[in-house]
Order: sequence, then C-alpha cells, then structure tokens
Amino acid sequence: MIEKELLKMSQEVSNCSLCELHTERKNAVFGIGNPYAEIMIIGEGPGHDEDLQGVPFVGKSGQLLDKILSACGFTREEHVYIANIVKCRPPKNRDPKPEERDACLPWLFKQISIIRPRILILLGATAVKSLIDPEARITKIRGKWMEWENFLVMPTYHPSALLRNPQLKKDSWEDFKLVVHKYREIIDPEHKAPKVN
Ligand code: SF4
Repeated sequence: MIEKELLKMSQEVSNCSLCELHTERKNAVFGIGNPYAEIMIIGEGPGHDEDLQGVPFVGKSGQLLDKILSACGFTREEHVYIANIVKCRPPKNRDPKPEERDACLPWLFKQISIIRPRILILLGATAVKSLIDPEARITKIRGKWMEWENFLVMPTYHPSALLRNPQLKKDSWEDFKLVVHKYREIIDPEHKAPKVN
C-alpha cells in the first residue's frame, strides 16, 4: 500500500544523516499531498517555516504556490503531491550543495517510483539541474514540455523567484496553464480550472 510505503520512508528520512544538512534540521520535510496524484511538484528544499513544521511549502512561497494551484483547479489533497530535492533545510536558506543534492536524490527517486505521477512540475533551478541537466538554465527551458524517465516534465520558476521578481509571474502562469491543458488532455478532460479556459 502506497501510504504505508511512504510512511516507512518518511520515518527513515527523519533519521537520515547521509549529508551534513541533518545536523541543523528541526524536522526533515518529506512530502505532502495525495500519494495517488498524477502531478508531482518538486521544489528545492525546506526553508525556515517548513523546517519548523516538517511540511513543504508552508511559508510565503507555499502560500503563493497554493494560490497558483487553486487558479488551476488543483488542491494538495486531491491533485498533487509535493516534495523537494533535499529534505533538510540548508542553513540560512543557501542553495543545497551538489554533494547534498546527490546524497538526498535517491529518496526523491524512491518517492517518485512509489507515487508514479504522470506529470512532474520542477520548480526552479535546483530541481531542473538535479533532474534534467546540471548546466540547464531555468530561464531558457521553462515552459517547454520535456521527458525524463518516461515522465512528462514541466520546468518553471520557483515561487520564491516570483516573490523576489513579480515580473516573472506572467511567464509562470503561462507554464501552469500548459499543465492544466495537459491534465485535461491525458488525465481528466472534465477538469475545471477557475482561471483557465
Ligand atoms: S538532506 Fe537528505 S540526504 Fe541530507 S540528511 Fe537530510 S534526508 Fe539525508
């Protein structure tokens, strides 16, 4: 049973010490959402609020992500599962180091293989560099469907980038509209999204 497998893995992640990020974490942040979702959203790593609560995307970035999802007619409970490249907070919200990403990625690969979504949304440069291409630039590849390990992948900006630079919101919204269209095409033709025709 998927829930059982994920619960067991989340307990293992809570005790993980495969990289130095475990030393300062309050909580490992495993993932949240519907384990049977067809969309998996992959961010970078926990921030301050996520570390305190042990839940991904609960700070300002998370609130913005929820607003975007809501405009797409998606909810965390039903349509998506959310996880990060690294499960423990990098100190002072620095980028995860390559060796930390490498240490943590097998957890994410295992999560993906259990949940088996049809669509992966990669939020930001760290997710794109970790899964697609270490040299990839998010500004160049966002908004274009790609394939990775037989999953459909949509790279787009991380919500924290949208908060820092609101001018990026327009492009980000175009990317999410593509996800809604694809969702209607391959998963649910009747899917209703309040802001997407
Ligand atoms: S970031 Fe990942 S690999 Fe590093 S200690 Fe946390 S769970 Fe383990």
